[in-house]
Amino acid sequence: MSIRIPESLRTQIDATDRRSCCYCLTSETVSGTPLTYDHITPASRGGLTTFDNVCLACRTCNEFKTNTIRAVDPLTQESTPLFHPRQQHWQDHFAWSLDGTKIEGTTAIAAISINARSSIRAVTSTIVVAG
Ligand SMILES: [Zn+2]
Repeated sequence: MSIRIPESLRTQIDATDRRSCCYCLTSETVSGTPLTYDHITPASRGGLTTFDNVCLACRTCNEFKTNTIRAVDPLTQESTPLFHPRQQHWQDHFAWSLDGTKIEGTTAIAAISINARSSIRAVTSTIVVAG
């Protein structure tokens, strides 16, 4: 489902998210791939096209998330909401690995929100930032 994002809202989101994915922090400049506007609560689930519900996401994170808003935590078997970039702080749920090559989850919310491909993108970001 393609939903038109008004120009004024895109401008606000671009400035706030600094043209970086809100889930893996990959910058559009580093990846060279245009970011997408992600409905955090998908429109198909009633999510609105508002600043509080739309953020920038790389295509990998957006496609991984699809229309999911919750997942089962494999450790507790409890249904857990995915990371919400507008309501939660990335640093409260994720951290860089000690060698700086991967994003690691520090909470159940993060554990179910991470996908393997975001770690690959994180490596790319780290190399550029360090260089
Ligand atoms: Zn991402």
